[in-house]
Amino acid sequence: MSKGILVLADHTKEVITDVSYEMLGIGRKLADSMNQPLYSLIIGDGAEKFASGFGIADKVFVVADKKIEIAIPELIVQILKKIVTENDISLILVAGTNISSGVGPLLAAKLDYRFIHFCKNLIYENGELMATSQLFGGKIFSETVLNDCKGIFSILPGSFPAEAGKASRFPEIIDIPHPDDGLKIKFKAFIEPEAGDVDVTKESILVSVGRGIGSSDNISIADELVEIIGGAVCASRPIIDQGWLPLSRQIGKSGMIVKPKLYMALGISGAPEHIEGMKDAELIIAVNKDSAAPIFNVAQYGICADIDDIVPMLIDKLKERK
Ligand SMILES: Cc1cc2nc3c(=O)[nH]c(=O)nc-3n(C[C@H](O)[C@H](O)[C@H](O)COP(=O)(O)OP(=O)(O)OC[C@H]3O[C@@H](n4cnc5c(N)ncnc54)[C@H](O)[C@@H]3O)c2cc1C
Repeated sequence: MSKGILVLADHTKEVITDVSYEMLGIGRKLADSMNQPLYSLIIGDGAEKFASGFGIADKVFVVADKKIEIAIPELIVQILKKIVTENDISLILVAGTNISSGVGPLLAAKLDYRFIHFCKNLIYENGELMATSQLFGGKIFSETVLNDCKGIFSILPGSFPAEAGKASRFPEIIDIPHPDDGLKIKFKAFIEPEAGDVDVTKESILVSVGRGIGSSDNISIADELVEIIGGAVCASRPIIDQGWLPLSRQIGKSGMIVKPKLYMALGISGAPEHIEGMKDAELIIAVNKDSAAPIFNVAQYGICADIDDIVPMLIDKLKERK
């Protein structure tokens, strides 16, 4: 029986993303309960600088080469296939981002492993591995049981605690040369998205408007609130789709993931795709005139009222206190 768990690190040029530590944390837990080694793989120009932070793994494979500005799925799969085969690895964790969509199916075909997408949970019990996948933005959860514990799993960011993947130990580092095997796909250029006017991920207070705000003119009450309490105005997707605010202000699955101290949701229903982007805020206050709106399930404080009644009242009270 093959053994060993491998985490494919996810990183930009400058930083290792949180989901890498999340995968390392759950990888360590599984490795300990299955009595198997935990490996990690980091690919990219300058990747070696990240390896020392991966002490929770037993061994870290590093493919660092100036030629790898961005590691494309074809290259990642080529490297992974070699490492997995040579080390007889049974379980591979990849970040549930655009990377996993490129790497997962291709690697599954090359190794003849199963690929299980969008995992929110992985449990090892009685010799079996159970994966829970979140599908259709959280409307459906599916469970897959693997009795041979062999497969490739994409992990949805935010599913596990990142802290559990950090350790002060220093791992064994193994340098692997760039395979340089004629790839059919060539990386051409990385196009940076246009810089947004405000970086909502850095704001500690966010006042977020949804379709319930009614009109583009009405966003001014959110602006007024922000003038008093600080922070920035952001929004759910329909507001961005209508061009009422720039894309850089969109919160959610296809927007920004934020963790402010205060998130005020005004007229937002709380669709899973929106919740994905703001559920980790320290304090969530929601205003919605529908008492059954799902946003109230994640809010610590809920006000069931019309925005047009409650927000001007709140602004007046805050002004009074100032
Ligand atoms: C692949 C995919 C990706 C997506 N990505 C994102 C994403 O990144 N971010 C995102 O936000 N969405 C995203 N969506 C869309 C998401 O599914 C929802 O459609 C969207 O979040 C709904 O936005 P909303 O809550 O503003 O609008 P609605 O769902 O229409 O809710 C409006 C709410 O306002 C309330 N309301 C109305 N009038 C008032 C009033 N006067 N006072 C108080 N309350 C009022 C209503 O009761 C209602 O609950 C995505 C969807 C898909 C399929």
